[in-house]
Amino acid sequence: GVDLGLLPERGRNLILAGAILSILFNPLLFAELDMLQASRDRHRAPEAKPAQLPEEEDAAREPIRPTALANHVVLVGHGRVGGVVSEELAEKKVPLLVIEADDERLAELKAQGIEAIAGNAADPEIIAAANLGAARCLLVAIPDAFEGGQVVEQARALNPKLNIIARAHSEAEVLHLKKHGASVVILGEHEIAHAMVELVSPGGS
Ligand code: AMP
Repeated sequence: GVDLGLLPERGRNLILAGAILSILFNPLLFAELDMLQASRDRHRAPEAKPAQLPEEEDAAREPIRPTALANHVVLVGHGRVGGVVSEELAEKKVPLLVIEADDERLAELKAQGIEAIAGNAADPEIIAAANLGAARCLLVAIPDAFEGGQVVEQARALNPKLNIIARAHSEAEVLHLKKHGASVVILGEHEIAHAMVELVSPGGS
């Protein structure tokens, strides 16, 4: 702005001063907010239990039982994509372990007799229970490529030779997942396009 003559020198100095003051006051305001929150909680719910610290939460959590499956497929996410995958693998009698975060989907899996680990596959304890060292491949069928990247990275560290196939919605996501160790990334939109072209009759009618 100053270079283009849109902002006077004085304006720049004021912005700079504002930024410095805001940086200085930020920690003080946050400390003040914490104290305010604590005193408000004390007044509102004197009988309430103190918030659980993350370590306490971890200690309270049920231990995750590792799977006894070997030469199995590990499928992360049992939604629109994972649901179709598991149906087709069941037809082929391929041993399957699903990692799923959603309670309703977990209940469906239980009803179908499919072995599942409950929780977020990006959680190191959850992914470690999937016996990836002995798995035939890992299918990351979740829509969030950022979380998918975390899952892929940890799986790759647990088994450097594992065939990891992941799901993406854009070229950027493909690159991201490959960078984190995916062997193959399936770009959904491309697959839809290929399937459409396959259905075009060569005769033109
Ligand atoms: P869809 O987008 O319909 O294929 O559904 C994705 C499925 O993946 C849903 O059932 C989600 O609960 C599940 N999901 C998403 N993220 C995770 C994750 N990090 N760990 C385990 N399951 C997940």
